[in-house]
Amino acid sequence: MTAKIRPLPGGGMMLETGDRRIAMDPKFPVNADYVFISHAHFDHLPSTSWDANFIATRETAELAEVRGLRIGRLIEDPRDMTLVPTGHILGSAGLLVDGEIFYTGDIAGRPRAFLREAERVECRTLIIESTYGRPGYVFPSITELMEEVEGSIAAAYNAGRPAILMGYPLGKAQVLEYIARAWRPLISFRGVERYSDVYRGFGVDLPEPDVVVSKIEELLDLGRPALVIAPSTVRSRAVAIAERIGGIAIWFSGWALHWRGNYMGIPLSDHADHEELIEYSLASSAGTVLTTHGYAGDLARSLRSRGLDARPLSVNTMGIREDH
Ligand SMILES: [Zn+2]
Repeated sequence: MTAKIRPLPGGGMMLETGDRRIAMDPKFPVNADYVFISHAHFDHLPSTSWDANFIATRETAELAEVRGLRIGRLIEDPRDMTLVPTGHILGSAGLLVDGEIFYTGDIAGRPRAFLREAERVECRTLIIESTYGRPGYVFPSITELMEEVEGSIAAAYNAGRPAILMGYPLGKAQVLEYIARAWRPLISFRGVERYSDVYRGFGVDLPEPDVVVSKIEELLDLGRPALVIAPSTVRSRAVAIAERIGGIAIWFSGWALHWRGNYMGIPLSDHADHEELIEYSLASSAGTVLTTHGYAGDLARSLRSRGLDARPLSVNTMGIREDH
């Protein structure tokens, strides 16, 4: 069966195969028979709702609604298509169409906290994310990272001070709540808990915070041991406050790998690293690999050097131009 795949303006792509048009993670309303949403991060979520047949997991639909996107008609089990868990955040999935074409959305390369790594899929055409598609992005083991984090939190508590853990409010913050659940009291943010509540509703065993704050400034009189989960959107102010109250601030992101700043960064990622993206692509046995979302040109080049027929579906979105 012939298939046509083209990038959509603003992000995402259109797949035309047989007599169906399937929009994958479109940014804007588009005319299609189905609209697939891989997960509820903003770079994969339409900016506004419209009348369409949405394909997503129930978890993604609920998180999307919390983010203001109304999902009118939700199809959880579409005909001739399979939703495949990708372990990136709660509900994240890729879409396998006709057993041949697989779009990954964002994929995790390894298990951490309550999440598993992305399930592998055999297909003819693989459309894979490229967030960490540049050589050099290889993350340390989770065990190594956790030892460093535990040691830092213990040191803060021993000194009678709080530890502020910062990450994306949807996805990373919940992983942090889970891995640091032994430390009390737990202070979290409203902007985190609105998503954590959805996780709890789906049975994820996240601890309930002792205190929920709305603004980072509410931590200014926190001169005692406490574990704070803060959204990375308030990172610079959180770091300034940690300094003022003598606490420590730790930022969790894959981007922390090659980042040097005046506070701690831990490269705990919800994405596959460069080597894991290559392994995942090789394991798919795909005859064609299209790269998207991130360092698409770089990843396609790495995949070609491993003998795969790979090309970027769209230009790099991290400010680096493709070479294709
Ligand atoms: Zn994502």
